[in-house]
Amino acid sequence: MLRVEHIGIAVRNLEVANQLFSALLATKVYKTEEIATEQVKTAFLKTGETKIELLEATAETSVIAKFLEKKGEGIHHIAFEVENIEESMQSLTNQGFILLNEKPKKGADNKWVCFLHPKSTHGVLIELCQEIS
Ligand code: ZN
Repeated sequence: MLRVEHIGIAVRNLEVANQLFSALLATKVYKTEEIATEQVKTAFLKTGETKIELLEATAETSVIAKFLEKKGEGIHHIAFEVENIEESMQSLTNQGFILLNEKPKKGADNKWVCFLHPKSTHGVLIELCQEIS
């Protein structure tokens, strides 16, 4: 794991959250993106070496909608940048971690991503990500 690439935060209203986090971090949202396959809308803010990813559900069946229903707004996942996502996935599987997807999938912000099941990581949803070159 190279570094914490971003921290994902589930929010009910992206517009409202964008304003608050822009003020908090004294920076602007540099990218908003809708991931249709995941039923989420995302916004990214940079803070030093890492980023904040705000996530809003676009459908009731979205994982973010389910998360908000269960836990309310808050930290949804921590994303670590890796050099080679397929090697990391293999190595973590060998160590007994449970992956939520068998192959890297296309995530927000030009990344290959893979999630680890929170059951195998003390309740924390972990994302691996690698920049698509
Ligand atoms: Zn993420």
